[in-house]
Amino acid sequence: MSTIEIKKITKKFGEFTAVKDADLSVKAGEVVCLLGPSGCGKTTTLRMIAGLERTTEGDVVIAGKRMNELPPEKRDIAMVFQFYALYPALSVGENIAMPLHFEKLSTEERNKRVNRVAKILHLTEVLDRMPGQVSEGEKQRIAVARAIVRDPNCFLFDEPLSRLDVELRHSMRGQIKEVLSNLSKATVIVTHDQLEALTMADRIAIMKDGMIEQVGTPHEVFAKPANVFVASFIGTPQMNLIEAELKSFAKGVASIALAGSPVEMVADPAVSKLKPSKVMIGIRPRAFNAQDKAAKDTIHAQAELIEPMGAETLVHARTKAGADIRVVVPREKRVKIGEILHLKPDPKQTHFFGEDGKAVRT
Ligand code: ATP
Repeated sequence: MSTIEIKKITKKFGEFTAVKDADLSVKAGEVVCLLGPSGCGKTTTLRMIAGLERTTEGDVVIAGKRMNELPPEKRDIAMVFQFYALYPALSVGENIAMPLHFEKLSTEERNKRVNRVAKILHLTEVLDRMPGQVSEGEKQRIAVARAIVRDPNCFLFDEPLSRLDVELRHSMRGQIKEVLSNLSKATVIVTHDQLEALTMADRIAIMKDGMIEQVGTPHEVFAKPANVFVASFIGTPQMNLIEAELKSFAKGVASIALAGSPVEMVADPAVSKLKPSKVMIGIRPRAFNAQDKAAKDTIHAQAELIEPMGAETLVHARTKAGADIRVVVPREKRVKIGEILHLKPDPKQTHFFGEDGKAVRT
């Protein structure tokens, strides 16, 4: 069964801990993206799964078997790197066939396998060309074809699309996802591009400073971020995180001082467990209702910068208390610089974070 499990794996380089107590399990047919800022430990985690790096602590289990002591070639995994190198003196077909070199296959069987993956990745037309005679997108697909030609137990991808231009990246995301969804293998993809993770992954593991902060479906990490870091990392434009004071909570309604304005809103029952105190309130830029006049439960902010985004406009506004607020309004609203916006947060899309930065949620 194609599965990948990492159990409390830690990697230390001397005194420095690059990955700490990472736990993750990937089922057959599931694509999990490791997502996080540069240096958070994504590649090190992938390299430990591949066997290119030894774990300092913890276990790597592939297909139910503990792999810690096994070298990469005995782990039955295929890896696609950011800097995939194709052999320039071999044709595309011969490049794809390379991993089959050690399998004792008849020429007929070998050609059959190469032709099958070439068909899946739309490379049939270029099989006889040399790597210098194909496009960047085709080179990328050749690297994927080379990974899947051998029918390995699972797949690891390290920033597979980062070398491609934006348009190609967009189309390749869909193509790789389609290919993977037909292979029923456990797959881990490392990326720092959240759009890539949100579109390709069944689940995303978000990392920071060597730790996995949250694992969830793209919808879960967006709609229910576990903490302030995930809330600010996922979603564009970035979620507003506004310091506030919780005054009271009664009958399901929280009273808060938000950016200098008193606001009452229906809140998660778990908020009742918070003592009246400083909290962090997270509101996405699209989760405000912009009112024409000052009204109850609205916050007020002056538009300072306007960024047209096509059908919508991103407005950067500042409250009297000095909080920066990003708000997305329909283009027809035609906000002007200097205008005061009266913003009513949607309670269903308002997140409370406690002093420890963790989401307060039932
Ligand atoms: P990026 O997106 O920039 O590739 P990453 O999340 O993949 O980053 P890693 O490459 O896993 O991060 O590195 C995690 C941390 O471990 C970094 O601070 C890096 O400098 C450090 N590191 C990685 N490899 C080594 C090594 N061989 N020796 C010492 N430190 C290392």
